[in-house]
Amino acid sequence: MHKFAAAYRNIFFPKPVKPPFLHVCQVGDPVLRSKALPVPPEDIPKPETKQVISQMRQVMKTYDAVGLAAPQIGVPLRIITLEFSPKRKKEFGEEVYAAREMSILPFTVVINPHMEILDYKKITFPEACESLRGYSAMVPRFKAVKLVGQDQSGEEVELETKGWLARIIQHEMEHLDGKLYIDSMDRWVSRVRRGQGACVALVPQFSFNLDRAWTP
Ligand SMILES: [Zn+2]
Repeated sequence: MHKFAAAYRNIFFPKPVKPPFLHVCQVGDPVLRSKALPVPPEDIPKPETKQVISQMRQVMKTYDAVGLAAPQIGVPLRIITLEFSPKRKKEFGEEVYAAREMSILPFTVVINPHMEILDYKKITFPEACESLRGYSAMVPRFKAVKLVGQDQSGEEVELETKGWLARIIQHEMEHLDGKLYIDSMDRWVSRVRRGQGACVALVPQFSFNLDRAWTP
């Protein structure tokens, strides 16, 4: 009888879910708009930090994402995870892969990342975000950036990237400062020509006739 009562209670009064979540927070959640805090060096080896990273990896898998920032799973800490797998290369196809200067990156964790711009030229491509599911916009990003931070063992990580990886990094760094790509998107996308309708910057995902947008 007790078991039945407990099961009944769990259905109608589930325990509150606490971060780190196994889902991605959506726009409107204040955690996406606050500045994330650095992880103190002595906390990097702690099980709590490992748990956050492990759940970020799991969520990236579930959502098929190429990047994630800890605030997206409800944790306001400066941790980002990145991955561009060979499977993803196949999905985009050789032409898009080359045009957008994509490159393979195994699963990478960067704690307390600092970004340096290596090439100020801006490149515009469609971008999407798991925290704004179902939408996409054209976003200009610097062509090349360098990222420095610590990995999950506290060792220094350094990534020099260009093209697509540089884009993913800029997107994730914005998450750590409470920004979303809609704050940086090209607001004057002329895909719908002037005179033929409104200029729409944010569009339903997959409506760009290029390929699927990526979703960090
Ligand atoms: Zn995002």
